[in-house]
Amino acid sequence: MTSSQPLTVPGYAHVYSGKVRDLYAPLDDSGTPRNDQLLLVASDRLSAYDFVLDTPIPDKGAVLTQLSLWWFERLEDLVPNHVVSTDVPDVVAGRAVLVKRLAMLPVECVARAYLTGGGLNEYLADGHVSGIALPEGLVDGSRLPEPVFTPSTKAPMGEHDQPMPYAAVEAEIGAPLASRVRDLTTAILARGNEIAAERGILIADTKVEFGLDGDDVVLADEVLTPDSSRFWPADLWEPGHPQPSYDKQFVREWLTSSASGWDKASGEAPPDLPEDVIAQTRAKYVEAYERLTGRTFS
Ligand code: ATP
Ligand code: MG
Repeated sequence: MTSSQPLTVPGYAHVYSGKVRDLYAPLDDSGTPRNDQLLLVASDRLSAYDFVLDTPIPDKGAVLTQLSLWWFERLEDLVPNHVVSTDVPDVVAGRAVLVKRLAMLPVECVARAYLTGGGLNEYLADGHVSGIALPEGLVDGSRLPEPVFTPSTKAPMGEHDQPMPYAAVEAEIGAPLASRVRDLTTAILARGNEIAAERGILIADTKVEFGLDGDDVVLADEVLTPDSSRFWPADLWEPGHPQPSYDKQFVREWLTSSASGWDKASGEAPPDLPEDVIAQTRAKYVEAYERLTGRTFS
């Protein structure tokens, strides 16, 4: 949790702050917060090891917002999204979007196209990931025969999301909705990989969130960003060991190195990041955006 107060945004009332995003409700003519829309403002905060770091990464919020908007357009024929407008107040220009306020489903919808991280650990234990049997002989970084759905719980701030068996998703939201979000999540990752492959990036896995607008399932939050996904440079992909990636790699490496003086197991908040780690991390986020979209980040 950061100590900083949420920004004042004229015409909006602050309603909630997540790890990275601040949510505001637009005020109507009488100054009353509307309950059908939200202004989703991506901050420059970065979370690592379940801590929100005190050091912001300049432009990260804008990169995440612009990249999500780019992907929403490219997924529109698969699934409707929550975007209403990108016409937002100047103080949050570039890093905010006005969205439809949805009844969010209480599931982190994760899909994996390559095996690593928590999925790899599950596989090494018994050959399954989220109850799905996988072929023998897979290693860290192996490509899966097809993307698998490996949902997790939405943990409260400061806690770690836990794997959620598919049957628990069905129990929580009902079987028809469970199969709908499963199929959408794997389809989003498959589409993402088709597009990213042309740009030399592999998307190992990703997390999306859906909400309901009446009976309609709508894609919300952020999509296929370096915060919600593992992006790997395709030319360096080599199964058998951890892959270099376009995300918090520098931050994680520095935090766990002796240079930081921080002990992950201590439960204490991590120290401030040094300038070079900030600059390298910013550059990775911008590079992921520019490679994927073919646009120059400004
Ligand atoms: P993480 O993304 O790491 O799991 P978080 O939940 O704290 O953590 P943030 O991205 O900081 O995530 O906060 C965004 C919040 O806004 C989340 O709780 C998300 O469920 C919610 N949200 C996103 N889009 C919508 C929407 N269209 N309607 C209602 N809530 C939304
Ligand atoms: Mg989020």
